[in-house]
Amino acid sequence: MVHNILRKYGIRGGDHDQHFLVDERILDRIVEAADIQPHETILEIGAGIGNLTERLMKRAKKVVAIERDPALVDVLRDRFGDDGRLEIIPGDVLEVEFPAFDKVVSNLPYSISSEITFKLFRHDFRLGILMYQYEFAQRMVAHANSEDYSRLSVNAHYFADASIIMKIPRGAFSPPPEVLSAVVRLEPRPAPFEVADREYFLHFVTAVFGQRRKKIRNSIIRNKQLLGIDIRDFVDEIPQEMLDRRPENLEPEELARLANILYAHKQNT
Ligand code: SAM
Repeated sequence: MVHNILRKYGIRGGDHDQHFLVDERILDRIVEAADIQPHETILEIGAGIGNLTERLMKRAKKVVAIERDPALVDVLRDRFGDDGRLEIIPGDVLEVEFPAFDKVVSNLPYSISSEITFKLFRHDFRLGILMYQYEFAQRMVAHANSEDYSRLSVNAHYFADASIIMKIPRGAFSPPPEVLSAVVRLEPRPAPFEVADREYFLHFVTAVFGQRRKKIRNSIIRNKQLLGIDIRDFVDEIPQEMLDRRPENLEPEELARLANILYAHKQNT
């Protein structure tokens, strides 16, 4: 069926992150994991030929599907055109404004996973069931002191409980991608530690993870312009053992403590 659709609409597939999920069992498991209630609005990013969309529409009050490829927008319109439960937003997910939604369920375009995830973190929603490249998913759920721990892990931990719930083989897609995939369950919740200023904390995390293997003291000093403060003026007030570690060895709450100290001094100068 995928091949017929692709041929009919002149879509090559494999380009622009276009790997369509065709394994019925996995499609069903993704929708099950989303636990969709009849009053909910679901956001789907990169709806493709609509295999996931169709299942989401059966359960939700409304599905809002964002799709950039005009040929795939035509497929979605032909397939579900007059069904009032579907709203199609043609365009680039990074440029369109997200509507209000309860849950986001998507097989994402992998080349912009990071940008999409950081955009999602700026919205209010109850649950995300999201397909990523496996390595990206691992970075998202990584803990301090591991190879995969990164700016992404700290952001994910700040915004949500994140866990890998399924590892997906290449053969579940048509055409098969070159990489393994994983489905991540993302449940937004209040941060489990105190942050004096959210934007400053996120900015701090981005700055120090630019040099994750340097002692954090050096990253902070090197980024003094960006962070708006020179810690050499008040270095005695910061626990030295924290400054001697590398960003990759600091827990998210320890990074928040440091960002809070810097922010307080910045406010007082
Ligand atoms: N959801 C479909 C499925 O599971 O079969 C398709 C998933 S495919 C991995 C990703 C989809 O995202 C493709 O349909 C592609 O055209 C679309 N896409 C790629 N970049 C996009 C962007 N910047 N904005 C919106 N959609 C995009």
